Amino acid sequence: MAQSFDPAGVRLPNGHFIGGRLVAEGAATLTVRRPSDEAAIAELPVAGAALVDRAVADAARAQAESGWGRMAPRERARLLQRFADRIEAEGEALGRVEAVASTRPIAAAMAYDVPATAEAFRFFAEYADKAGGEVAATRADHLGLVVAEPYGVCAAVTPWNFPLSMVSWKAGAALAAGNAVVVKPSELTPFSTVRLAELAVEAGLPEGLLNVVQGDGRRTGDALCRHPLVAKISFTGSTATGAAIMAASAASGIKPVTLELGGKSPQLVFADIPDVERTAGHVAGSILYNAGQVCVAGSRLVVEKGVEAPLLDALAARFAAVAPGETWDAATTFAPIVSRRQMERIDDIVRRSVARGARVLVGGAPMARNAGAFYQPTILVDVTPDMPAAREEIFGPVLTVQSFTTEEEGIALADHPDYGLAAGIHTGDIGKAMRAMRRLQAGTVWINRYGRTGDFVLPTGGYKRSGIGKDLGRAAFEANQRHKSVLIEF
Ligand code: NAD
Repeated sequence: MAQSFDPAGVRLPNGHFIGGRLVAEGAATLTVRRPSDEAAIAELPVAGAALVDRAVADAARAQAESGWGRMAPRERARLLQRFADRIEAEGEALGRVEAVASTRPIAAAMAYDVPATAEAFRFFAEYADKAGGEVAATRADHLGLVVAEPYGVCAAVTPWNFPLSMVSWKAGAALAAGNAVVVKPSELTPFSTVRLAELAVEAGLPEGLLNVVQGDGRRTGDALCRHPLVAKISFTGSTATGAAIMAASAASGIKPVTLELGGKSPQLVFADIPDVERTAGHVAGSILYNAGQVCVAGSRLVVEKGVEAPLLDALAARFAAVAPGETWDAATTFAPIVSRRQMERIDDIVRRSVARGARVLVGGAPMARNAGAFYQPTILVDVTPDMPAAREEIFGPVLTVQSFTTEEEGIALADHPDYGLAAGIHTGDIGKAMRAMRRLQAGTVWINRYGRTGDFVLPTGGYKRSGIGKDLGRAAFEANQRHKSVLIEF
């Protein structure tokens, strides 16, 4: 059970992590603030090209000299399992690092982020000796082999919304496949990634195998992606940054990229749902969790007219019942917005939509609090597809509502012209659910539920401008390997 704690008493490892050591140098610094109260808590050193070069070169050396890529896969798996054990043993202390300087309330960090981070390393460790190429017999006097090999050094560039978890997905897959990893966490939430890298060394992983460089995207992230020794890039963040990273890859060696980008995911609800309260729970949870700062947030309710009124009543009650508070308070369930700037963006999209005819049913403004950027859970009705709130990713607790009368119309409204990350379908008719599932252009479709279950077998990733490639699942492990075809004649 998570406990409330004093944020001032938590050690935040501030700096880059290179070769097993915290490095505090930097060409400049950035002020890091706590989302809960906006207090300045650290001056983060920014890595320029020279420090990025040092981190990548050190990772390449560690990968080669430790024999990580050549070691028996089971041995690699054993070390990654020890790393997961160490993460679990660190448990609450790691959760506190996450909660101090991110939007994750301590209760959520303990219930999800910490255990899911350990689990991601376990999940990928299990692939280490089970998905390593294949034997392909071609003719009686030939034998074909597909040999899987690591890339060497992989870069991981991560966002601020789930700092630990995002690193674990990318580093888990890359390390299990035999690579070294250099991570550039978000400059808004930089500390838990460093603590994770320290734990890797404490668990016995070779020093330098998991390095961290700090800084913003323009200086540090871009230098990392363009580094000649970086052979693969995995990124999670906005679609605009994903496009910049793809261009950087094209200009610096045509590196494969995995891009997990933005979303504007629909919740398609038909009037035949058997239990309105249950569906309301899934819809509310999908947009209120982490205050909507979730890539797969179910931000657009597309509802059949017959059930619109009772569903909106049930949603309004849930939206009114959130418990905002500091992330270090164990009673907090409703997260702050990561920064004032991001909150102003949310409010701007709401205002622009209202100016074009949307109506605020619930919320619609920042919360009146002394400190911290908290936004009211908001429901916008009378929304049309061309309004900013229906088109743009808001990344806040704002649900738009559009209604329909025919199945065809509902599916057409649910599909977004640009994004295709996830979709929810709620109906008592399995045939209708399957028809909608086939038609919706989304990388993940949840039927009569919404959100992951903590089972990492299902890959996650987007259609359209929501991304390329997958995190999690066997697909993510294999994306961190190169495959060499060998043909032997005898
Ligand atoms: P962002 O794109 O602003 O930043 C993400 C990361 O990229 C940060 O570490 C940033 O410093 C870095 N970066 C920025 N510009 C860069 C550049 N030119 N080169 C290299 N690195 C650069 O995104 P954010 O605001 O941190 O996160 C929110 C976004 O992330 C939302 O759009 C959300 O949908 C998306 N997201 C997607 C998923 C998914 O699985 N698809 C998951 C979480 C978040």
